[in-house]
Amino acid sequence: MTLPARADAALIYIAEDEPKMAALLIDYLRAGGHATRWLADGREVVPAVRAHPPGLVLLDLMLPGRDGMAICRELRGFSEVPIIMLTARVEEADRLAGLDAGADDYICKTPFSPREVVARVNALLRRSRRQPAPDGAAAPFAIDDAGYRASLHGVALSLTPVEFRLLQAFAGAPGRVFSRDSLLRHVHDDQRAVTDRAVDSHIKNLRRKLAAVTPEREWIHSVYGVGYRFDA
Ligand code: CA
Repeated sequence: MTLPARADAALIYIAEDEPKMAALLIDYLRAGGHATRWLADGREVVPAVRAHPPGLVLLDLMLPGRDGMAICRELRGFSEVPIIMLTARVEEADRLAGLDAGADDYICKTPFSPREVVARVNALLRRSRRQPAPDGAAAPFAIDDAGYRASLHGVALSLTPVEFRLLQAFAGAPGRVFSRDSLLRHVHDDQRAVTDRAVDSHIKNLRRKLAAVTPEREWIHSVYGVGYRFDA
């Protein structure tokens, strides 16, 4: 099963307490050319990432010592390391909870496909490496937070306040998957009841305005069953 080392090989931390699951992930990731480190206790994860930042973290939601959500939130306080959350439960709430904690992707372990994990790891590594430096002069978007103004390739965008705040949320975390719930929290401070459908219609309008400037480019991608991802 050994394959040649990939050009985008990375050190992957596997925070997973079930030894069989961890062994399977280690086998497949190593076969895919990656280096791995197994962390079986939730309390080990944050100190390990601080001491030696990996290329990506696979983070189980249910860990002894500390739960994956709390770990993910703390990691996001100091690190942009790509994080894939693993969950044993299929409930949408758990998936979204993982995303809202700042994870980049989630994978449900039932049914479990190590091949899919490796494919998603590689996809996320490619995506995170494509991102340009945040202060790059060639950044396509200019967003003026105080003035509620935004432009794309120097063309001023005429956005509603909700569209502006959606763009602000997306542009602040390119490549990250946003659930509709987390987008709603970005656009509405007062917790008014707004439906998923309303988010979809604001996104549709925002897409149309961006497409008017860059018709060849799709910035906002739908992620089936979850929400949206913005590719800068
Ligand atoms: Ca577990």
